[in-house]
Amino acid sequence: MTKFPVIDGHIDTATKILKQNRAFSERSKIGHCDYPRMREGNVQAALFAIYPVVTIDHLIKGLDLWFKMVTDPNNHLLQVKNINDFSKLKDSMQIGAILHFEGAGGIDDDFNLLRIGYHLGLRCISLTWANTNKFGTGARFIKHQKKSGLTDNGRELIFEAQSLGITIDVSHLNDPSFWDLHEIAKKPIIATHSNARSLTNHPRNLTDNQIKAIQEKKGTIGINFSTAFLNAENPGKQDPNLGFDVIKDQMDYLINLTDINTVAIGSDYDGTSVPDSLKDCSTFPAFWEYLLEHGYSEQDINKISHENLLRVFKKTWK
Ligand SMILES: [Zn+2]
Repeated sequence: MTKFPVIDGHIDTATKILKQNRAFSERSKIGHCDYPRMREGNVQAALFAIYPVVTIDHLIKGLDLWFKMVTDPNNHLLQVKNINDFSKLKDSMQIGAILHFEGAGGIDDDFNLLRIGYHLGLRCISLTWANTNKFGTGARFIKHQKKSGLTDNGRELIFEAQSLGITIDVSHLNDPSFWDLHEIAKKPIIATHSNARSLTNHPRNLTDNQIKAIQEKKGTIGINFSTAFLNAENPGKQDPNLGFDVIKDQMDYLINLTDINTVAIGSDYDGTSVPDSLKDCSTFPAFWEYLLEHGYSEQDINKISHENLLRVFKKTWK
């Protein structure tokens, strides 16, 4: 089976292993990612999110947990802080871990913690999770959507983060916050884990205009494997029986609307319920095989599996 290298735009494994009381170094029957299964799926690196960051307490406890996991020699992880670090991962036994705050809650108005975060290796940040904070408004998973967008603090945070070399993630923002951000972002933006709303009408997914706006900024969109965000008939409802075709539908749609450079992977493994067909990260090779059988070229798959995200990191990191 063809093993394309994967850079996954979003996994919640750093938080999940503690909750599930399992070791990252050992193959588990539960959860979606651990070292043996990531090797099997040829996952070379991932944005390991600290999730969710709503308060400073989440930030401090999340960082402690994150560094415990990443520095444990049994876990064979290498923290990726620079583009050159990706080349160290080729033909290596190590997997790259990129520090991502899923939410900027807890970051102070003077951005001291943002700059400290940068020095600790923070390379991607979302302004909000599903909540509203002093920077902006997140998309609720269900029901009422607030109409507010970015605050002045939020606009300053975008400027500061992009100047430092931190990639901005728009995945959890509500629509007004997305457009406020789009207006001021000077570098490519990514939706680390979101799908197309035209196919699955859910507020966590992106409208056609948002998808085109991300393309226009030369950003990319990580397809989310959450059955709730893939389920076209019952958006928001879990359905473990969805097949590879549903993920491919999302990819086809994004590519038709934009181009092959605007699609990546943001599995949301260890943060959501996924289809049985993609039950954990060891299933990536079978999915790539399916794409090869359905008209995708090796060049296309390389772009989707890792090159598109890498391109955005090159443009947004220092
Ligand atoms: Zn998320």
